[in-house]
Amino acid sequence: VVRSEGPADRGDVRRHNLSLLLRLLAEGGPRSRAGLASDTGLTKATVSSLVSQLIDRGLVRDVGQAAPGSVGRPATLVEVDGTNLVTLGVELGVDYTGIVAADLTGRVIEQRRRPLSRPSVGPRDVVAALRADIRAATGRLDRFSRRVVGITVAVAGMVDSESGAVVFSPNLGWRMVPLRDELRRALRTSVPIGVENEANLGALAEFRLGSAAGTKHLVYVIVENGVGAGVIADGQLFRGRFGQAGEVGHTTVDPSGDWCACGNRGCWETTIGMRALLTRCVPDQAVRLLNDRRLGPEEKVAFVVARAADGDAVARSALADLGRWLGIGLANIVDVLDPEVLVLAGSMRMLAPWIHESAVTAMRARLPNPASPRVEVSTLGYSAAGLGAALLAAERLLIDPLAELVPTRA
Ligand SMILES: [Zn+2]
Repeated sequence: VVRSEGPADRGDVRRHNLSLLLRLLAEGGPRSRAGLASDTGLTKATVSSLVSQLIDRGLVRDVGQAAPGSVGRPATLVEVDGTNLVTLGVELGVDYTGIVAADLTGRVIEQRRRPLSRPSVGPRDVVAALRADIRAATGRLDRFSRRVVGITVAVAGMVDSESGAVVFSPNLGWRMVPLRDELRRALRTSVPIGVENEANLGALAEFRLGSAAGTKHLVYVIVENGVGAGVIADGQLFRGRFGQAGEVGHTTVDPSGDWCACGNRGCWETTIGMRALLTRCVPDQAVRLLNDRRLGPEEKVAFVVARAADGDAVARSALADLGRWLGIGLANIVDVLDPEVLVLAGSMRMLAPWIHESAVTAMRARLPNPASPRVEVSTLGYSAAGLGAALLAAERLLIDPLAELVPTRA
């Protein structure tokens, strides 16, 4: 709380306090005005005035009554108004696009994913596909009078979040693609668009809404086609210079191992990524599955799971070995970052029954006992990165509730 009475910064103080209240409601749930006052240290009169301003902007609304049993007159609760303002998290995978529409608290309103059907998709095709997805979602939301107030694109790769450019994405085969500018041109919109690394966004979603929400030292590990990690350190997203902190998929675990898309040998990704999973677990079908662009990652993984469930010896022993490689990489992460919890996402969600035990055993064998963190499986589904993207797009309004909701076109 900032209490300063100089006329020059009175506007800043108001903005700061509006942000404080809105964030408390978005992240902590509904509260009475009195509750907001005691949580923030602001006076009740100030809180009432600020809440009125947030209501006028359509950001919060009055709802219901405080729980029965509370002493005195029941108080009306204030909550984030989830009815009209929406942000979009857009996922750009190697072979799919996805979209998550959420309100400012991260409550999902709709969620879709579709495979990118054309082979060797370049930036131009991808921008066209994303434009179609975003326009379709905006149209559907518009029918319920929901306005899109921010968009973040989740990308597998190195991004410059200032300029919105994809600096390098080995799996997409992109270098220096000004994705935000191209998307803005294609959409002819002035809605703010951000670009962020998908694993960072997954970590953000886990930190805010996942099973280990609020854990201050959390590492999110996503294995899909490639392998990435997002790091929450001391309660903050740790990005590094290019959002690339946690790019664990290209750390070397086996210098004489398989070649990787990045040009090196024996990256962690070559031991647990999609190519490794399919070639080792279902060798007779691997080429077909890897090249079938109609299939999303879930369907490819489901094929492996079905084989293992059928008792296929090759699949089962390959999965146990995959778990061991997973554990080796997790131990490396723990040695560097010392997290309380590791959250596994992507294909690891479906594979967990087959690999969790061998992964934890291999990890613990490499760590001093007290250092071993919990290894959990994400409960946020395949689109944690999309959800994190929607949450990040909402940050603009949480930081500055007076920001223009949909700025006029420049
Ligand atoms: Zn690599």
